[in-house]
Amino acid sequence: MMQETPMMKQYLEIKAQYKDAFLFFRLGDFYELFYEDAEKAVQELEITLTGRGKGEHRIPMCGVPHHSAEQYFAKLIERGFKIAICEQVEDPATAKGVVKREVVRVLTPGTIVESQLIQEKENNFLTSLTDFGDGTVGFIRSDLSTGENEVTLLTDDVQEWLQEISNSHSKELVISTDFKEEQLEKIKEMTDVTISYEDQIEEIEEYKHLVINLEQIKLQKTFWRMCHYFKRTQKRSLDHLQPIVYYPANSYLKIDRHSKRNLELIESLRDKKKQGSLLAVVDQTVTSMGGRMLKKWIEQPLIKEKRIIERHQIVDQMLNSYFEREELRDELKQVYDLERLVGRIAYGNVNARELIQLKRSLKKIPLIKQLLEKMNPSYVKRWFSENQSYHELIELLEASIIEDPPISIKEGGLIKDGFHEELDRYKDASANGKRWIAQLEQQERQITGIKSLKVGFNKVFGYYIEVTRANTHLLPEGRYERKQTLTNAERYITPELKEKEALILNAEDKMEQLEYELFVDIRQTAKEYVSSIQTLAKAISEVDVLAGFAAVAEKNRYVQPSFSQNQTVKIVAGRHPVVETVIPKGDYVANDVFMEQGREMLLITGPNMAGKSTYMRQLALTVVLAQIGSFVPAESVELPVFDQIFTRIGAADDLASGQSTFMVEMLETQYALTKATQNSLILLDEIGRGTSTYDGIALAQAIIEYIHEEIKAKTLFSTHYHELTDLENSLRHLKNVHVSATEDDGLVVFLHKVIDGQADRSYGIYVAELAQMPSTVTKRAEKLLEELEQGQPLDTKKDDREHKELVVHEAMDEPTQLSLFPVNPESSGQKQGISKSEKELLKMIKEVDVLHLTPFEAIQKVYEWQKCLKS
Ligand code: ADP
Repeated sequence: MMQETPMMKQYLEIKAQYKDAFLFFRLGDFYELFYEDAEKAVQELEITLTGRGKGEHRIPMCGVPHHSAEQYFAKLIERGFKIAICEQVEDPATAKGVVKREVVRVLTPGTIVESQLIQEKENNFLTSLTDFGDGTVGFIRSDLSTGENEVTLLTDDVQEWLQEISNSHSKELVISTDFKEEQLEKIKEMTDVTISYEDQIEEIEEYKHLVINLEQIKLQKTFWRMCHYFKRTQKRSLDHLQPIVYYPANSYLKIDRHSKRNLELIESLRDKKKQGSLLAVVDQTVTSMGGRMLKKWIEQPLIKEKRIIERHQIVDQMLNSYFEREELRDELKQVYDLERLVGRIAYGNVNARELIQLKRSLKKIPLIKQLLEKMNPSYVKRWFSENQSYHELIELLEASIIEDPPISIKEGGLIKDGFHEELDRYKDASANGKRWIAQLEQQERQITGIKSLKVGFNKVFGYYIEVTRANTHLLPEGRYERKQTLTNAERYITPELKEKEALILNAEDKMEQLEYELFVDIRQTAKEYVSSIQTLAKAISEVDVLAGFAAVAEKNRYVQPSFSQNQTVKIVAGRHPVVETVIPKGDYVANDVFMEQGREMLLITGPNMAGKSTYMRQLALTVVLAQIGSFVPAESVELPVFDQIFTRIGAADDLASGQSTFMVEMLETQYALTKATQNSLILLDEIGRGTSTYDGIALAQAIIEYIHEEIKAKTLFSTHYHELTDLENSLRHLKNVHVSATEDDGLVVFLHKVIDGQADRSYGIYVAELAQMPSTVTKRAEKLLEELEQGQPLDTKKDDREHKELVVHEAMDEPTQLSLFPVNPESSGQKQGISKSEKELLKMIKEVDVLHLTPFEAIQKVYEWQKCLKS
């Protein structure tokens, strides 16, 4: 074993305490990484691997310059890694032996607060679970950048945890090291959170005041684990942590992860971007704080009718106060991110510029209050407490910090004249000295008659008088003292010049030092306002979200929903909030939804592409909008307050996942069937489609019957199995509706209109036509369909054996909506079938990957098909 150098020994000791993090070890101007850290970092960061030492004892190493380290940190954090930053904590110049080093901070995905590393309109929640072993589990989510903490008690059902973790969009989860392995595996499988460990849960005296509102010891313990983790990783003040708020996990409309994804509440399915989601349509917030709050509201719609109605009433009032509202939003636009600003104040890393942002924001508050007062006198009381005043803080900031200060707080130039007497004296001294020097140049030019004489300054020699060599003979003997000889000039000093110089430099040094001290004092004063500004930030966010709702309601013509006392859904001329904004204005066909006693379940039939799934999503999104307090897209809306929403809606990416599609379908349905209550909303789209026809119909029917008999939840069930429409006769609470389509000149036209009754026929063949299927295929299909409808056996061309093969094949594969060649099982013994070439053709059509075909390839394919048919 090689003898370790003292520095490597120090490295290994520190690394042993931070095994799960990249240890960035400060060496001079670089952060160095060693051993596996280095090897891993080289891959992740695309930097060069070097080594320390020689031969077989060479230690792999790589490094990044400390001044550009942030970008490397950002990359690693984004990928879910942790970073321990180890600094030199004594001056290398005076250190004896190895420079002392310590980890000063651990950066983790859930604890970063740097604004360039986190999204403005998103919370960055760190979450933690504490399993009490008695069937209860504490859950907490904390945002270190804003200081918010919310805690609740869950059961030991992993699904519930996953729900909360995903609601929080958490990137990191803190648990104990003895957390149950099996459950941890499930979490890892279902989410991509970074796992961190913390075993300490003892109370911390310093932060006891944060938990006084929590009665349950379990909730407190849940927080203490989080708090210990913060302390251990952040190693600095946590003064901005807000008192822990308890939220009952079941006080929100529950929407499971899949449904949230399927309904595209926060991001679109296709590219996972905000664009195309419900959030994008209703987000008219003008502050980052408001943006974060809105997102939270959409994640957790309310279920308390009273609270929802309160929000509706405010939106209504704001909708009717156009001028005040728009002025209010203009003012809000100028309010900076108060939550994150105070986070930085408490953290001690706020700069003068940010304090100016704070001042400007606080100065907006009186006008914001006035505008709210104008809308409704009760609003000010609702959002602002009387003893909240920032007058003194504003005055202090106004008097002390210049309007456009530099980012650095250590180089002076931030404090206003007249704020501090001593500082002013230094400023005067420096200014006087500089003025004297400026005059000196004039004066000496006159005395010596040398026009090119100048006074200059450099860091090494300080102030000097410079005379070009050609003119030095003009200088009176002994007037100056020679200091430096250059090729073309001489530089001189005088005792008086040096005296002034000392004065100036001394004054400037003192100025910088004093300005820094004054700034720290001001920051300290601002710190006293942290919790009050946090409350203010909450109020501003809420006002922003609600004013935004009013703006959306106006822009998109939404109406105030009302709540039904007898569980009725009555939507007149409802629209899909997202679809209506992406298709040409006025093209959206509004639809009614009517569900009451005796029609709790609607079975929706209609051709593919008719709008079944849009209709179902429309209802779900309307419910979500209503329960977050927003107005809704319709002429009028009456709804019950739903407790949960479940969906099984075909998602585009299911197609890509192939084999597992049916399993996903069944899992999601199973979840709905076990969790739904009578007050839930269930949306099932084409259930059973993922298996063979008869299997599918049987399953679909059984599921409908189960919901009908056991759950009694409001349910929309769309299907292309016409056989299911007969259920209306046997199930009292089920009614058929269908999306109408009509034929125009032989072409099908979808009306997107949902009306009572069942669809009279399948338009599969027309859809095939729309898809520009070769006309030979559709013509043939039409003929076969005609024959089938007339009860004739299919026109056959080949022998039985071949047909049977086809039946089996069809039954195994996913049946398509097109049902080009439906087969009647009872008649399978009869002589029927299709030609071999047609069979092959079908196979080819089935297998073609339309989405990845170029137009030219498509033409070629059609050509091949025709050839196949003609042969
Ligand atoms: P289905 O579920 O019946 O196959 P979709 O709901 O996916 O049909 O709708 C197919 C297309 O029709 C969608 O792209 C959508 O934009 C459009 N659409 C659906 N409903 C409407 C409507 N009410 N008004 C206008 N366009 C609609």
